[in-house]
Amino acid sequence: MQSRWSDADAQEYRDRYAPWGEPLALRVYTSRLIGQDPDLVMHGGGNTSVKIVKETVLGEKIDALCVKGSGWDLDSIEPPGLPALALEPLRALRALPGLSDEEMVNQQRIRLFDSKSPNPSVETLLHAFLPQTFIDHTHADAILALTNQPDGAELVREALGDKLVLVPYVMPGFALAKLAAELYEKEPEADGMVLLKHGLFTFGEDARTSYERTIEVVDRAERFLAGRAKAISVPGPVAAVEEARRKAATVAPLLRGLLGTATPGADQPYRRVVLEYRVSDEILTTLAEESAGALAERGPLTPDHVIRTKATPLFVADVGVEAGADAIRDVLRAAIEGFRSRYAAYFDAQVAAKKIERTKLDSDPRVILLPGIGVFCAGKSAKDARIAADLTEHTLRIKSQAERAGTYEALGDGDLFDMEYWSLEQAKLGKAAEKPLARQVALVTGAAGAIGIGVCLELAREGAHVVLSDIDPDGLEKARARVAKVAGSAGCAAVLMDVTDPVSVDEAFDEACRCFGGVDIVVPNAGIAHVGSLVETDPKRFDKVIDVNLGGYFHTMQSGARVLKAQGTGGNIIVQASKNVFGPGADFGAYSASKAAGHQLGKVAAIELAPVGIRVNMINADAVFSEGETRSGLWDEIGADRAASKGIDADELQEHYRKRNLLHATISGAHVGRAVVFFASNQTPTTGATLPVDGGVAAAFPR
Ligand SMILES: [Zn+2]
Repeated sequence: MQSRWSDADAQEYRDRYAPWGEPLALRVYTSRLIGQDPDLVMHGGGNTSVKIVKETVLGEKIDALCVKGSGWDLDSIEPPGLPALALEPLRALRALPGLSDEEMVNQQRIRLFDSKSPNPSVETLLHAFLPQTFIDHTHADAILALTNQPDGAELVREALGDKLVLVPYVMPGFALAKLAAELYEKEPEADGMVLLKHGLFTFGEDARTSYERTIEVVDRAERFLAGRAKAISVPGPVAAVEEARRKAATVAPLLRGLLGTATPGADQPYRRVVLEYRVSDEILTTLAEESAGALAERGPLTPDHVIRTKATPLFVADVGVEAGADAIRDVLRAAIEGFRSRYAAYFDAQVAAKKIERTKLDSDPRVILLPGIGVFCAGKSAKDARIAADLTEHTLRIKSQAERAGTYEALGDGDLFDMEYWSLEQAKLGKAAEKPLARQVALVTGAAGAIGIGVCLELAREGAHVVLSDIDPDGLEKARARVAKVAGSAGCAAVLMDVTDPVSVDEAFDEACRCFGGVDIVVPNAGIAHVGSLVETDPKRFDKVIDVNLGGYFHTMQSGARVLKAQGTGGNIIVQASKNVFGPGADFGAYSASKAAGHQLGKVAAIELAPVGIRVNMINADAVFSEGETRSGLWDEIGADRAASKGIDADELQEHYRKRNLLHATISGAHVGRAVVFFASNQTPTTGATLPVDGGVAAAFPR
């Protein structure tokens, strides 16, 4: 590991944050240097501080501690992410024999200079009790590999020398802060401290010194580990990534279905998870190592991973992919049930041993390791699942590295339980109310069009993860970028699809399974049109319209139903039919016939899929010319012919349709999207129904 300090960059930070003063400007700079290296910290882990002099509104100059606030990541921190606290009152707390977590948080809050600041880090007092100006705290991979060993303390001495204070494992909070300060005062010449099974603190009088001490210590640890590495045997061949990805598409919806929990009530019967799939040569090799299963049983690198990953992953040596869906489901179900009962036993044993009462958290695995396939991580959103997956990739690597250098050993259940059930840790996960379509995944075909984008945006607004598909790569990317503004880049994905090709449609659903674990809402929407009378229509054009509209709906519903049935957690198919189904017009035979057939197919699907809880409903929209900046490709193509057929000018067409309906409404893609949301959120026990979104056209009333 090398220092990435640059004088030019440091100067840029001094200039950019000049009003905050040089110490805070450089604190932001080196905090980001640390935050941007995932081998040092990940996802809100680690914290940094600087001691400055602050002026109060009365002009009084007061010693202050600026320390990382919760909710900020070091990689993108700004000065307000390092709230200032009055230092002396914090230091005075050291005289107390003990301090509850709640009172510690309160004491920190009442010493803030700005009442709107985020809560200062739970390690604030440790920063306060140490005398140095700059302090950097990381959960560096190499330090964890070195200290998660039965002889961790001796290894640290051997690898890193005696300029570092050694602190045994104590949970973060007041007790750790006091202990660390006492141990430091016995070795005041030290330039850092190693917290066993937790991480590294380094200090310095300036930003660069403290940062570069972190880098130097971690670099020494990395070299030491590399020097001691012994080979670990890998029995049998390691799977190829492509093969693993193919298997993952089969396994994902089965796994996701088993991790969905049934809830009381008929309207929303399942509480689902979203899966993040990870695979690489390194992951497949690590999972194939002889020690992989045994290592999985040993706890996490550092206890603050527990709230994201649980203490251990679920390791399934062989899911038997070749044996088919039912057999895979049986293997996974038995493995998950085993995990749940082990978790329940751990919980019961801990509350009994500690003589405390706690409400048990859910017993489901967050991390599922499948040799030959890769890693699946589960979360309530793709963002949460990604965090767990990032932690897991590092965990696999570092456990394996630690095992090569000695014997990997994690903290015991008692310490892990304290962290998992610590109120200050649970608070990090947030308790915000979930949106109606949270934890669900939608796949929309023709997503680049006006109706398609309207549907995707409304689904995303209601909390769904959205897989956009289209045959036009440029339009698809533009649509994805629009949806990402609502769903976040983790909350949506784009996949090219030719709806007329069953292989392409299947592959798109496979990709959705790899992206999010499966699909809950399927919206067959891609369509084309042709204007021409029965006598004049070229048979090839007719076939093409039928092929895209009807054939496309058939393939999309077929592949979609395959995934929904594999999950076994119900779902919704919402077919984009048309006002023309009930109210056809002249010179529009191919389109009207294709839509009427698609509509009929939807009704048949409603009958066939009801026994497995899948609802199929139809939307009859009329004349959607645009959605925001996205114009309808269909209308751009046929508008002139359609206007000519009606004997009006092309630019009068949209107004013609508006005036035609009872409410004189202009129909947008968003209107259609809201109808899709209505069905997708199971507002009523309805299947096989048709909802017009047309402003009211009497001739097209459903009958
Ligand atoms: Zn820490």
